[in-house]
Amino acid sequence: MSKGVLLIVSGPSGAGKGTVCSEYMKRRPETFLSISATSRSPRPGDEDGVTYFFKTREQFEKMIEDDGFLEYAEFCGNYYGTPKEPAIKAINDGRDVILEIEVQGAYKVKEKCPDAILVFVLPPSPDVLRQRLTGRGTESPDVIEKRIGEAHREILRGANYDYIIVNDKLDLAADKLEIIADAEKIRVCRNKEYLQNVWDLKE
Ligand code: ADP
Ligand code: 5GP
Repeated sequence: MSKGVLLIVSGPSGAGKGTVCSEYMKRRPETFLSISATSRSPRPGDEDGVTYFFKTREQFEKMIEDDGFLEYAEFCGNYYGTPKEPAIKAINDGRDVILEIEVQGAYKVKEKCPDAILVFVLPPSPDVLRQRLTGRGTESPDVIEKRIGEAHREILRGANYDYIIVNDKLDLAADKLEIIADAEKIRVCRNKEYLQNVWDLKE
């Protein structure tokens, strides 16, 4: 059975990563959307085990010691990490996997899993980013300013990504994520078995 595609979705806070991934999951519910662990406090609408696994810093550090993460990073003073086992199992079971993680973590995964596809989600403009962060109403004004400052650094760090999705109209942004996953599956390097077994082509 061929392995699933590993899609890593990053972008500034408020770009709409979560919203685009939710829309994608409605369309392709067989996809495994990884649930991260974090030491940040829950925001309104967050649910333990659904949006994140909420941990104390001590609990998180114990998971690091136990080698429980595919990657982890510190972002805006909090730990965030991808639990290793469930994501690896899903890929090996042939399911596509989405990790919605920031850039440092994304590059760590790319080192371990070179087939991973790096997708950067951006809002149409900085003004729209500010509006979306304010409109979401989940952060205080000083946290919003911190996150907007972080957005520029995040965009610079994302320069080596494979794809950019400008999230203007939600439907179109989700279409683009589907197109990326589908294009990945028809790469020659992912169809070696077919070429060998059906056409008897050797490397
Ligand atoms: P992120 O996960 O990147 O931090 P969210 O998915 O929480 O961002 O989106 C931030 C805010 O922007 C939310 O209030 C969301 O409803 C809104 N939003 C996301 N995508 C769109 C879009 N395409 N058009 C309008 N609003 C959007
Ligand atoms: P938020 O606090 O807005 O939920 O997330 C802040 C940032 O952490 C976002 O860029 C989000 O993509 C990223 N993030 C969420 N989970 C993980 C993870 O498991 N690992 C890493 N490296 N970043 C993550």
